[in-house]
Amino acid sequence: MKKLFTLAIGLILLTACVSAPSAPQTQPEPDSVSPTESPLTVPSAPATTGTTLYISATMHIETKFDSWPTDTEAFLNFLQQTTDAGIRWSIGGDIGWLEKADNAQEIVQRSAAMGVQWDNHAHSPNDFGKIAYILASWGVTPTGVISGFLIKDFDGLQSSYSYQGYSWSPMVIWGGVVCPGHKDGCDDFSVSLYRPTSSSQFEIHDPAGQLIKLGGGSHQLADVESLAAEIAQGQHPYPVIGYTIMVEPETYRIATSPTDDINAILAFVDRMNAYPFVRWATIADTAQAWVNAGEAAFQISE
Ligand SMILES: [Zn+2]
Repeated sequence: MKKLFTLAIGLILLTACVSAPSAPQTQPEPDSVSPTESPLTVPSAPATTGTTLYISATMHIETKFDSWPTDTEAFLNFLQQTTDAGIRWSIGGDIGWLEKADNAQEIVQRSAAMGVQWDNHAHSPNDFGKIAYILASWGVTPTGVISGFLIKDFDGLQSSYSYQGYSWSPMVIWGGVVCPGHKDGCDDFSVSLYRPTSSSQFEIHDPAGQLIKLGGGSHQLADVESLAAEIAQGQHPYPVIGYTIMVEPETYRIATSPTDDINAILAFVDRMNAYPFVRWATIADTAQAWVNAGEAAFQISE
């Protein structure tokens, strides 16, 4: 992984140090902390590096039914086992699944009860309002995360979307693709946190941008391990870096990997926990940690 460019780090850090309001530190909400997770009261800055690496995990359950979790108990069991190991889930269910799958409501509600967060994953921004409404009608408040995103849609994003009187406002955009279908060259695999302000200059950070862009890397276990090794050596000296692993809901394996199943994922969690600077957090909580730490913007390209 090589560093492509760094965005106004010094100035932002300096500004943050001097003028950051004494807002209370927002830690992940207590109700979403699994009992086996290490306590969150440890100091957030490790001794060997100024960086905290927040690792999140996501899945997309698409409208096409070949990605639907057909075995409710097996699916929830996978989420429970990985949550017990410390992983914090941010899941995006598309409109067709939410509306048509018999077990969607049960999966959303029971997973939310174990701390899973539900992001807003839509292929058309027109569905944001309805997706948020459906989740809320099931008693699960959606996060402000747009989970998956066509960069060309950025300029048309509204500050809020309403459906049946329920209003939802995006705050974070996760991922970002230049073309649909995850074809070669379409996906943005950068590890990044910044505020973009337009589709045409999507990689440019502007502190005045309304939305936070979190790029979660290639989502592969091996790549986040390389990143962690680099951070341990003092590379990428940003206070908050986010990375997202991604699992396919129909196979319980890391997306596109034929081998990285739950056993590989649990072994990975153990190895990552050896790094004092690693935290497990949802996508929404990672973005919040970045805000709390002063919004040092960066983009690391793989
Ligand atoms: Zn989708």
